[in-house]
Amino acid sequence: MWKEPLTEASFPSVQADLQSLTEAGCDLVRFAVPDTSTADLLGKLARSSRMPLSADIHFDYRIALRCLDHPIAKIRLNPGNIGEPWKVEEVVRKARDAGVGLRIGVNAGSLPRELAGRPDQAAAMVEAAEGELGILEKLGFRDVVFSLKSSNVETTIEANLLFSRLHDHPVHLGVTEAGPLVPGIVKNSIGIATLLRQGVGDTIRVSLSASAAEEVWAGNEILRTLGLRSLGVNIVSCPHCGRSSFDVQGFLHDASFLIHHTGKPMTVAVMGCVVNGPSEARHADLGITGAGSMAIIFRHGQTVRQVPFGEAVSAFEEEFAKACAQG
Ligand code: SF4
Repeated sequence: MWKEPLTEASFPSVQADLQSLTEAGCDLVRFAVPDTSTADLLGKLARSSRMPLSADIHFDYRIALRCLDHPIAKIRLNPGNIGEPWKVEEVVRKARDAGVGLRIGVNAGSLPRELAGRPDQAAAMVEAAEGELGILEKLGFRDVVFSLKSSNVETTIEANLLFSRLHDHPVHLGVTEAGPLVPGIVKNSIGIATLLRQGVGDTIRVSLSASAAEEVWAGNEILRTLGLRSLGVNIVSCPHCGRSSFDVQGFLHDASFLIHHTGKPMTVAVMGCVVNGPSEARHADLGITGAGSMAIIFRHGQTVRQVPFGEAVSAFEEEFAKACAQG
């Protein structure tokens, strides 16, 4: 979800940021569309971007209809605030004619009035999704993904498990309003991984009070850790440690090219000393540690270079580029 309003003034920087997110491994970006002029701006953006764009619609179905005049990839509707079924039906008919998919996004914090306050929130979320599903089925519309999100991890898990037991539609996963970086990543990781490990979930979004780039990074890490996506670098690195003779944290801070690499899958070991260094060196495609005043760069366990600490990052970047090119 894009974090700032889309405006004429922000348009050029948004275009550039979309390009960066594409390179970081992001597959789709959703924009809040509060009015029809933003819908037109989103359409202009969609025409100029390789990134599929989704429109996030609340309250006014006419904004969704306007978005469907443009080459967007998806419309997200919140069943809690669109209102009468005929309004949803109009959007569904136009989406079908335009060949655009829908996401029915149920949020525990904005359930339809008759479901809000129910003691079993997960069941209420499923019921909200089923209310929209009835409209879609009546119109024979199948190009839909559902999301059932809560800021509570357990509720998110229960709602998605229940929905997936009852229906075979694709499900988009995430824990909403999950908080700042560390708690947000913990909540999303537990919620998303628990569901994916049980075979539930088709797409994910890590929701953080942090940058979009950090959300994409966290999402890629979750998928890589579960063995569902192999893109980018798997970094093995030491924590703060009394035995360390190499500034691991400083090196990782400066070696941001490792984080931004989303090409060939690689394992990189950044080790503070030789206690676990030799073992990790054998497993890593490329690694670095320190001894005395020198940084030692190794590849599949074999030392390939020794340089003064001050040259460690630039030397490692060169060896990383070679390793990527050679395989
Ligand atoms: Fe500490 Fe060395 Fe183990 Fe790293 S490899 S955690 S620096 S003892």
